[in-house]
Amino acid sequence: MIAFHPIFVHPLPENHRFPMEKYELLPKQLLHEGTANESDFIVPDSLEIEKVLSVHSADYWDRLSNLQLSDREQRVSGFVHSQELIQRELCIMEGTRRLAEEALTKKLGFNIAGGTHHAFVDRGEGFCLLNDQVIAANDLLTQQGIQKILIIDLDVHQGNGTAAMLQDDDRVFTFSMHGRNNYPLQKEQSNLDVELDDGIQDKAYLHLLSEHLDRILSSFTPEFIFYQCGVDILASDKLGKLGVSMKGCQERDRLVFDAVRQLNVPVVCTMGGGYSPQIKDIVEAHAQTFRVGMHTIL
Ligand SMILES: [Zn+2]
Repeated sequence: MIAFHPIFVHPLPENHRFPMEKYELLPKQLLHEGTANESDFIVPDSLEIEKVLSVHSADYWDRLSNLQLSDREQRVSGFVHSQELIQRELCIMEGTRRLAEEALTKKLGFNIAGGTHHAFVDRGEGFCLLNDQVIAANDLLTQQGIQKILIIDLDVHQGNGTAAMLQDDDRVFTFSMHGRNNYPLQKEQSNLDVELDDGIQDKAYLHLLSEHLDRILSSFTPEFIFYQCGVDILASDKLGKLGVSMKGCQERDRLVFDAVRQLNVPVVCTMGGGYSPQIKDIVEAHAQTFRVGMHTIL
């Protein structure tokens, strides 16, 4: 199942780093090439506020939802805040939460958005206001009887908010593989952080991923996996600083989905970043994650 969120908000006008078009183009590409059918898509409702408050502070949610965050806080978040923006964020949150619930029977879910891993308990940054994977993980732990969750975060930027929000929760293992010299410069501590040197290429990248996935799974047996599958690891990415090819990115997805298949557990993928100058590269990289996931899992 695929959660789609129609776009009606825009990031900071002076900020050209956030390609909103991909959220419209990717579903079209998936339909065009036959990877997905219309019936695979849902447009999620809005997340219940009590589920926001189960992981975010009441004070932060109050100020965020009443548009009371300062200009500086809004700039750090990457967006000019509006009711429409908050509403879209709630739908993205519900998208990941609902996909997780449905993946318990359907095995695989993709959110065309989300992966908002820079959101903390009481603040947002880097285009993330609320943390969808933490909200959905908490829902699985408290409502669905799931006891062990693995978060695989392969976006080029560290999942700093996710790491901080879950640092005291033994039920969730947070794994982030990210650029050593990339944002956020001050890293948080995940259960496992693998820092990548600038310019790293396919072979070394895939070797590290394979080795560390094996190591995690030798001591932690998840019942559920979230995959933050950002494609800002591509060599073409404006922000990524790495040297991974399109094929290497596909092999990355294959390693993750092969592990998921062997464990025979549900997986929900959230999109994360992707800032290549050519929008076709961003859409192709995301589309190949969908292709590999569907081919491997279903
Ligand atoms: Zn990123």
